[in-house]
Amino acid sequence: MPYSTPEKRKAYERANRKRIRSMDRARYKRDRTNRLAQSTARQKMLREKAIQKIAENRGDAVPRCRIDLTPSLVEVDVCAGWLEIDHLNGNPNKEGKSAGSFYRKIVVGLRSVEDLRILCRRHNLYYSAFLFGRKNLYGNKSGWKWK
Ligand SMILES: [Zn+2]
Repeated sequence: MPYSTPEKRKAYERANRKRIRSMDRARYKRDRTNRLAQSTARQKMLREKAIQKIAENRGDAVPRCRIDLTPSLVEVDVCAGWLEIDHLNGNPNKEGKSAGSFYRKIVVGLRSVEDLRILCRRHNLYYSAFLFGRKNLYGNKSGWKWK
């Protein structure tokens, strides 16, 4: 509904707060499924954009598994599975509350992609096992470095 001034609109909203809220609630219920689908789609798009950006930062026009950045694991099997974002030197749990905000920060440039790379599912799992084993067996003295 158009109002001649913002004050009039605010006055109307104040006077009809309950009615407006119940209409909003009803609309929310009606659209819930649709909204959830939209939010999933948005999330997926952000994830794809984030992966693309990380890949391009490593010189890949098309995202691909960069297990080659971990030379000791290159020979381990062929790639398999979907692509995932790998944290080169950190704990992914530090990224904050949701994956969505992590992707968004990458896409809008609030988060650097320098310490990230793309790994396929299989190599990401191998790599986690490798890091875990390394920690247990050699501490930090394995001499292994990021390339
Ligand atoms: Zn791979």
